[in-house]
Amino acid sequence: MLSQDEPQIASIGYNIGASSRQRAWVEIDLAALTHNVRQLKKLLSPKTALMAVVKADAYGHGAVTVAMAVLQAGASWLGVATIPEGIELRAAGITAPILVLGATFAPEQVKEIAYWQLQPTLCSFEAAKLFAQTLTAIDYDGALPVHIKLDTGMSRLGPCWQQAAEFVQLVQSLPHLHIASIYSHLATAECIDQTVLRMQQQRFEQAIAKVKASSKLPLPCLHLANSAATLTDSSLHYDLVRVGLAVYGLYPATHLQSVIELKPTLQVKARVTQVKIIEPGTGVSYGHKFVSDRSLLMAVVGIGYADGVPRNLSNKMTVLIRGQKVPQIGAITMDQLMLDVSAIPDLQPGEIVTLLGKDGDETILADDWAELLNTISWEILCGFKHRLPRVAMF
Ligand SMILES: *Cc1c(COP(=O)(O)O)cnc(C)c1O
Repeated sequence: MLSQDEPQIASIGYNIGASSRQRAWVEIDLAALTHNVRQLKKLLSPKTALMAVVKADAYGHGAVTVAMAVLQAGASWLGVATIPEGIELRAAGITAPILVLGATFAPEQVKEIAYWQLQPTLCSFEAAKLFAQTLTAIDYDGALPVHIKLDTGMSRLGPCWQQAAEFVQLVQSLPHLHIASIYSHLATAECIDQTVLRMQQQRFEQAIAKVKASSKLPLPCLHLANSAATLTDSSLHYDLVRVGLAVYGLYPATHLQSVIELKPTLQVKARVTQVKIIEPGTGVSYGHKFVSDRSLLMAVVGIGYADGVPRNLSNKMTVLIRGQKVPQIGAITMDQLMLDVSAIPDLQPGEIVTLLGKDGDETILADDWAELLNTISWEILCGFKHRLPRVAMF
């Protein structure tokens, strides 16, 4: 059974592909990724650009592969959280504009941004001055595109929205800086109650009006929306939307599911490594948190919490084998977990277990794990470790 369902695969990223000897892997569906980008583009007016947010290794999917696929599908910007994430994309030959969403605070970082032609977020008056000083010190040729971040209610990065005009004036007065955009980030866009969302939008518009009144230059690109806001309404789109989760085919909230049809892009799979009969009264795994009340058929699977399957799913999760739901039993261990496979008496080592994804008519989504763990799907996607090879499916 070792070659059962052997997919057409190409190895990508930082590891080898899913051969029949691979114990566990993450599968990336590039067709679904392309589909999602096209669906999102259809939602946008022609004047609104799409930034695919590929921070955190493209939400666990593999940044370089995802970046290349989304650019080909119609995204024109990439968003990353850190400078090394941006450098990884540049080193792979990607030339699209890359916005670093995180803050920059050290001269060495300014030099890296300039060298790799990344575009920084300016989050404070001090950061703006640091950029100007450092670029002057290295005789930077021309002006670096920079992005002004305003705090309109997220209470994270950026000066508060009332300081927008003052902040923009400072940046305009400094050498080697060109304001490429002004943006803000939403705190509650996925909530049904839009009170805070509309308050943030109003503050953003007030800030922009003040900038417009006090500056002779035309307004730069404006952007506010994450996935949830992009799916909420077009008044939030402005010139650019910054979409992460929806690119990966998941919805930020159930009430947004009817807006466009998205396809999940990530699947997590592993193989059965051993099958055996457990006698009644037998404890399974560390701490014997599961004790069988009957004779059952147990399978061992080659994936564990060191691969990113949260240990808190122990005794709670189900997986898919041959299109059937199968319960996980006992504590999930670092490298392996156990299943009650009594429903599949002829199960063989080497058969594929789908932890996240689709098998037959059944699907398990990151949202299902998030619900069991009282967290959000974003955290689930980012949790898969580099020990799992990423395998692109075309
Ligand atoms: C992560 C991030 C996004 C993308 O958020 P999603 O909810 O995944 O679409 C957009 N903007 C900023 C500033 C971010 O940090």
